[in-house]
Amino acid sequence: MMTSRNEEIDVIVVGGGHNGLVCANYLARSGRSVLVLEANDSFGGAASTLEFADNFRVSACAHWLNQLNPKVLAELDLENHGLKLAARDLNTISLAKDGNHLTLRSDGIEGVAVSELDRIAYLRFNSQMLKFAELLAKVFERRPPKIIDGDFGDRISLVKLAVGMKMLGKEDMRDLLRLVLINIYDVMEENFESEQLKAAISIDSVLGAHMGPRSPNTVFTYLYHKLGEVYGYKGPAVVEGGMGSLGEALASSAQASGVKLRCASKVEKIEVDVDQVAGVTLTDGEFIPCNTVVSNVDPKATFENLVGFNNIETGVVRRVSNLRMQGNAAKLHLALSAVPQFTGLDDAQLGQRLIISPNMKQIDQAFNSAKYGEFSGETIMDVSIPSLHDSTLAPEGSHVLSAIVQYAPYNLKQGWSQQARDSFMSLIVEQLEQYAPGIGELIVEKQLLTPVDLSEKFNLTGGHWHHGEISVDQIMMMRPFPGASQYATSVDGLYLCGAGSHPGGGVMGLAGRNAAREIAKRQAKR
Ligand SMILES: Cc1cc2nc3c(=O)[nH]c(=O)nc-3n(C[C@H](O)[C@H](O)[C@H](O)COP(=O)(O)OP(=O)(O)OC[C@H]3O[C@@H](n4cnc5c(N)ncnc54)[C@H](O)[C@@H]3O)c2cc1C
Repeated sequence: MMTSRNEEIDVIVVGGGHNGLVCANYLARSGRSVLVLEANDSFGGAASTLEFADNFRVSACAHWLNQLNPKVLAELDLENHGLKLAARDLNTISLAKDGNHLTLRSDGIEGVAVSELDRIAYLRFNSQMLKFAELLAKVFERRPPKIIDGDFGDRISLVKLAVGMKMLGKEDMRDLLRLVLINIYDVMEENFESEQLKAAISIDSVLGAHMGPRSPNTVFTYLYHKLGEVYGYKGPAVVEGGMGSLGEALASSAQASGVKLRCASKVEKIEVDVDQVAGVTLTDGEFIPCNTVVSNVDPKATFENLVGFNNIETGVVRRVSNLRMQGNAAKLHLALSAVPQFTGLDDAQLGQRLIISPNMKQIDQAFNSAKYGEFSGETIMDVSIPSLHDSTLAPEGSHVLSAIVQYAPYNLKQGWSQQARDSFMSLIVEQLEQYAPGIGELIVEKQLLTPVDLSEKFNLTGGHWHHGEISVDQIMMMRPFPGASQYATSVDGLYLCGAGSHPGGGVMGLAGRNAAREIAKRQAKR
């Protein structure tokens, strides 16, 4: 074991994903000497840009910025560190094969297929959901309270939550309690007539999840996506240069705060000496001593691979083993020789968020395949053509298309062989052809990242979007599991700061911010 010649480090952050960088930055600002170790060659983790074909670049995982917490944006001065939006407040257009598309804006819907009743119901539904999302937003900016053995801060949080719920009013409070226990399918049936509208709303409750519209928790996951509106996004935004530019801005801001950054530095082991963190060992054998290690790596990989099950109690081993984190989202990247033509869409509409989610049955059946370890015959998709807003992503006249495609189960029964990938890719392109006739002929290069690829490229267990399912048994004081929900763990000096912790995934930055505040508070008490 080589010992590092590094000067003294107060905190090591393992992983330079966006949450790791946010956490490191706040910790450095609180006077600590912080080192970030990232396995990959660049920072940002699942918020990154990838050149998938010569001169064609795309956001490799996350392609919409619509949840970044405004406090993180302002406090870390990200705009002055290079973060620029190429487009923002985009509408969501639910595509129809016949060109009768449905447009969802934050303040209403447009489309021939929706009745006046649906238009009114949408406004009512939207404003109620926004009210619930506002309550979530307040809870998300604090560590989750402990219910048993909580301290004064926990009791204050619980009182605030209770007051927030009471402020909703009797009717909304009753609705909230009922809705989070049922599923988005039933909620859509209660509210709307149009199948296209029901499915356009429901896609946001299942993206990134191992859930179908009839699964419990899907109202919560819908509210989770809605959070962006509370933060002032009237629709998704496209980051100039791809999501990797956010990673670069965060790295630049962290460096300005004094954080030391090392990429291509994969941690093999978080060293533990009798229940106390002692440092980390990199894959090349370098040992860096440190009494505080913060992991941006998902909780399963943190405990099972980095700390090692032999170093933790059996109760914790059981909880980690039971974490549900099966990814189902694949990422499709197309390099196109020209602008694709979608039936019935004009140029301005083409640059919006396009979804293929025509009816509830299609989402439901697509998920059914995944439950049995098969990819969906007819998928649902969330499509962006970012080069329409940002010409740096493709050569002149050419374009890139990026699509989140579901469902592509991580544990595909037949395995993700080349043949399975080719079959799935053909199905997806055939499906796109039905909405954009001729798109196949424009394809210069194509790439499909299955959850297995995402897991390998971005070190994400199960290829899971949120580092663990967002469901009622894995949120708040149960995230990632009881005993580790306030960022501290059963190993002294080991903390968590990634999407696997409260409040979860998406490019939000709050897990990193909350973790830094909690670490500073706990260490100040010593
Ligand atoms: C296909 C897909 C599409 C998505 N689309 C969106 C979207 O449009 N909008 C949105 O807001 N969110 C989206 N998400 C979710 C979002 O990208 C993630 O939830 C978020 O980026 C997680 O951030 P993080 O910093 O917590 O973790 P990560 O980004 O996973 O960062 C963890 C970091 O740790 C590093 N690491 C792991 N192991 C080690 C090790 N042993 N040593 C050193 N470093 C290590 C990794 O390389 C990585 O950089 C998407 C996710 C996926 C997979």
